[in-house]
Amino acid sequence: MTFDSRVFQQVPRLLFGSGATGRLRELVPAAGGWYLYIVDSTLESTAIIDRLPTRGEDRTEWFPAVDHEPSTVQVDEIRDRVAASSNGLPMAIVGVGGGSTMDVAKAVSVMLTNPGSSSEYQGWDLVQQPGVFKIGVPTLSGSGAEASRTAVLMGPDQKFGINSDHSMFNALVLDSGLICGVPADQRFYSGMDCFIHCVESLQGSMINELARSFAIQGLDLCMKVFMDDGTDDDLMTASFMGGVSIVNSEVGICHALSYGLSMELGFRHGFANCVAFRVLDEYYGEWVETFRRMLERHGIDLPEGCCLGLTDEALDRMVQMTLRMDRPLTNALGPRWRDHLTTERILDLYSRM
Ligand code: NAD
Ligand code: ZN
Repeated sequence: MTFDSRVFQQVPRLLFGSGATGRLRELVPAAGGWYLYIVDSTLESTAIIDRLPTRGEDRTEWFPAVDHEPSTVQVDEIRDRVAASSNGLPMAIVGVGGGSTMDVAKAVSVMLTNPGSSSEYQGWDLVQQPGVFKIGVPTLSGSGAEASRTAVLMGPDQKFGINSDHSMFNALVLDSGLICGVPADQRFYSGMDCFIHCVESLQGSMINELARSFAIQGLDLCMKVFMDDGTDDDLMTASFMGGVSIVNSEVGICHALSYGLSMELGFRHGFANCVAFRVLDEYYGEWVETFRRMLERHGIDLPEGCCLGLTDEALDRMVQMTLRMDRPLTNALGPRWRDHLTTERILDLYSRM
């Protein structure tokens, strides 16, 4: 099968616009039942919560996205609590937060209808049963998790996605009113995740014209937001378009390296991508130059020598993590990527971060 002939995927129902969150229930095809809201606990004390159209029978799970990247253990715990409820399965699951919380909502949705631990589904197309109807409500833009078919989780020994048609959201609310309070540095790091998605998807081989158009438009909007006077609507749209482009193509070398940084150093995804992208001139040339200008314009100082204190064992785990990223590396460097991206080459790149 060529990549051109894959089924093009995108979330089928979507509400767009500042204030749209209040209309969330219009997206659910059936009336009745109760809704499970999985909400980033950072938002607990904000006005965002008052905008959610919750009803008496609904439940809220506060997810501590601030602590670290989400894990399979956390997903299993939420699933167990919900499954133990006497109300039966929820009619809808609503994930409200950044990529971490949205991925948890996606994973909980499929784990309520499939047996075992979520760690057993990290991989490609391992989920058998459709999940509970799920709605994504981003409160932070860039990850593209709202648009993608993966739920990225830290498992027992790897950071990996549950990649499945069943882990895509059934509906989205893109309400730019929810991202206006994001701290500037976090807005930048997550926004750069989107910029890097678009670059990696455009520079790779697993792309068709339709996905390319999403990536080009996502990139243009990132330039407008981070180098000019773009709005929160622009940023929210860029994140979605970058997400659609990677679902229908692939990421590349930066993501393959950044997973190792997140695993061993606990770096958040957007930040880890920034640290990795900065040393990838050889692969993404002019885009790395543009990225440096964005860093400067936003007064962001990335740390140097991040990997210098790591043990050989830790570095080896990072290399192994990178080498597992076959699809992104095939996308970026072709099927013979191992001839170029040797252990020594990966260690050299990490040593320059
Ligand atoms: P995030 O969800 O990890 O959140 C980062 C921080 O921002 C957290 O402390 C969170 O509490 C805070 N935050 C969220 N919304 C906020 C708001 N409105 N105001 C103030 N603070 C807010 O960050 P992210 O960059 O959106 O997502 C990164 C995660 O997404 C990683 O776990 C990564 O692996 C995953 N990811 C998934 C995909 C996918 O396709 N599924 C793609 C890229 C990244
Ligand atoms: Zn990413």
